[in-house]
Amino acid sequence: MSSYIPVIGLEVHAELLTKSKVFCTCSAEFGGSQNSRCCPVCSGMPGTLPVINQTAVEYAVRAGFAMGSDINKFSVFDRKNYFYPDLPKAYQISQLNLPLCINGSVPIEYEEDGVKKTKNIRINRIHLEEDAGKLVHDDLNGVSLADYNRCGVPLIEIVTEPDMSSAAEAKAFVEKVALLLQYAGVCDCRMEQGSIRADVNVSIMKPTDTEYGTRAEMKNLNSIKAIGRAIDFEIYRQGKLLDMGKKVVQETRRFDDNRGETKAMRSKENAHDYRYFPEPDILQVNFTDEQLDAIKASLPEMPDARTERYISSFGLSENDARILVGSKILSDFFDDSVKAYDNPRSVCNFINGELMRRINLGEIALEALPFDAQQFAKLVQMADTEKVSKNDAKDIFREMSEKGGDPEEIARAKGLLITNDTGKALAVIDEVLAANEKAVAQYKSGDAKVFGFIMGQCTKALKGVCTPKAIKEELEKKLASL
Ligand SMILES: [Zn+2]
Repeated sequence: MSSYIPVIGLEVHAELLTKSKVFCTCSAEFGGSQNSRCCPVCSGMPGTLPVINQTAVEYAVRAGFAMGSDINKFSVFDRKNYFYPDLPKAYQISQLNLPLCINGSVPIEYEEDGVKKTKNIRINRIHLEEDAGKLVHDDLNGVSLADYNRCGVPLIEIVTEPDMSSAAEAKAFVEKVALLLQYAGVCDCRMEQGSIRADVNVSIMKPTDTEYGTRAEMKNLNSIKAIGRAIDFEIYRQGKLLDMGKKVVQETRRFDDNRGETKAMRSKENAHDYRYFPEPDILQVNFTDEQLDAIKASLPEMPDARTERYISSFGLSENDARILVGSKILSDFFDDSVKAYDNPRSVCNFINGELMRRINLGEIALEALPFDAQQFAKLVQMADTEKVSKNDAKDIFREMSEKGGDPEEIARAKGLLITNDTGKALAVIDEVLAANEKAVAQYKSGDAKVFGFIMGQCTKALKGVCTPKAIKEELEKKLASL
């Protein structure tokens, strides 16, 4: 196959985490029995009037700030007309010419052919619209049923410039967008529930071409893996067509996850096919500078800034920093722990080791940890200051994971607290030496190797009383005095 340059643009749809829908007061929560979360407004009854959800508008703006966008202080809604049974009004309220956000940029980090790379993906726009319902096809009875629970759930569409040129870049972009939305607190980013999905536009061009090739669009890809596979297949399919002297047709294609192939669905529509016109029932959105500043100021520290802080202020490796920042809950937990015990590296090691291990085993969930950051930090500190041995710290952590509780109390109850009681240590060492006269005599006659044996006996007898370091010191002193 000749070498072509793939040109990829994405439209990422993300459902916003508002309590109610975007134009009515129905619950926007996922689930519920069919058609239990709809009303005359979201089921498109004639004569009903939509009222915009202010929180949805603010969330869209938060997403815009999270992606470095400019916010249009003046923004309007439009009707996008098309008929499909999952959209009972036969039009979708969306935004065409004056969307809420324009001109953003999302930096991505990804690995390709074993090399770490970075790139900036430009955002053309982010607009607010409503989601459609869901069709349930009952092949057995030959009917299709419509469930309008998702109809009217607020959705933002994040449209990129065609800045990506591989599946790896597109996957990294969607992952980064999901992370940014998670930090902005506007989307739960559960791809399996459809709260994030992407339309992917792919075309290819020869290195000598001055214009983009004809693109094909694949709609509603709902996993990172499917996005990557669909893009790889499409690059391959279009390359083969051009190699054979054929043309790529502008069309919408369906990605078949089982076969890993895309299939023609319909010829690709253009904006004018939708007969957009201004939505007469929704007021225009006007923001003051103060309102926008307040929304911007309410955003938490974002992932890239956190990664940078963890590396430069805390001395963490980039890899460790990215693992922590990869989840806002985890990163917040880490920050709270470091506030309680100012040893970021040690806290990070315990999180990325023991904590992640128990999470990966499915024993605990990050969203519902049975202990708080202060208790966790206390345990890490106890292990660092040898109040408990490193091994016992793992046992204590296991109990905290099962039942919660204070690490010091658990350690005391289990007899694992190391008190470094010198008086008790000396008495026990005396007993051990008396019981091992032969070894002691060997040591005194110059056989240094036997020290390890004697030390081992003392450590065993003094477990939980003294640290190995303290035992060694006392033992050496004692042996020297004999
Ligand atoms: Zn409703």
